[in-house]
Amino acid sequence: MRILLIEDEEELAQAVARGLQKCGYAVDTAFSAGEALDYWAAYRYDVTVLDLTLPDMDGLMLLGRLREAVPDARILILSARSAVSDRVKGLDLGANDYLIKPFDFLELEARIRSLGRLRFTEAGDTLRCGGLTLDLAAREARFNGRPVSFTRKEFGILEYLLLHKNEAVPASRIIDHVWDSDADLYPDSLKYHIHSIKKKLLAAGAPDPLVQNVRGVGYKAVEK
Ligand code: CA
Repeated sequence: MRILLIEDEEELAQAVARGLQKCGYAVDTAFSAGEALDYWAAYRYDVTVLDLTLPDMDGLMLLGRLREAVPDARILILSARSAVSDRVKGLDLGANDYLIKPFDFLELEARIRSLGRLRFTEAGDTLRCGGLTLDLAAREARFNGRPVSFTRKEFGILEYLLLHKNEAVPASRIIDHVWDSDADLYPDSLKYHIHSIKKKLLAAGAPDPLVQNVRGVGYKAVEK
């Protein structure tokens, strides 16, 4: 899942970004509304976290612009403005959720997770495919009940493939949702990670084409 974090307080932004990356998310950080709009034009985010007091534009105005550009975007406001009227205004302008500063990181992560999965109605916190189970809250994978240890990146790739089970997912879309723009991404990075995922699945006893290459397109998680 890829997140855009819009926050001008650098220390806070970096701490939140690091925390989310540890949870396995790809995170881009914008320190101003201008930067946020640039990122927004270049990538498609699963969840956007928006601080309301930015140096170059009021956060509520930015919210309106983002909402207009991508009507089904998932946006969470993060703000020290705790008045009910501010919250109502934010929600009226199309925020999906509102978290008041100071906040607990675990609560932020839980809300992001919940917003991210709104797109995939009944997915819940557990994804399943042919004996493979991903627990998104604990970031744990099992095959037929036995733990399989994936790296963060591998887990993110599997999460995206399982959300689109039995669908050929273009490699570029996987990259867009699993890597952030700072990441060192080599042409073969995805291929390398997929190879490692397949090896681990085979070692865990999974059937061979649980993750399949789809020639000329990308990859597919297959449930027979
Ligand atoms: Ca701020």
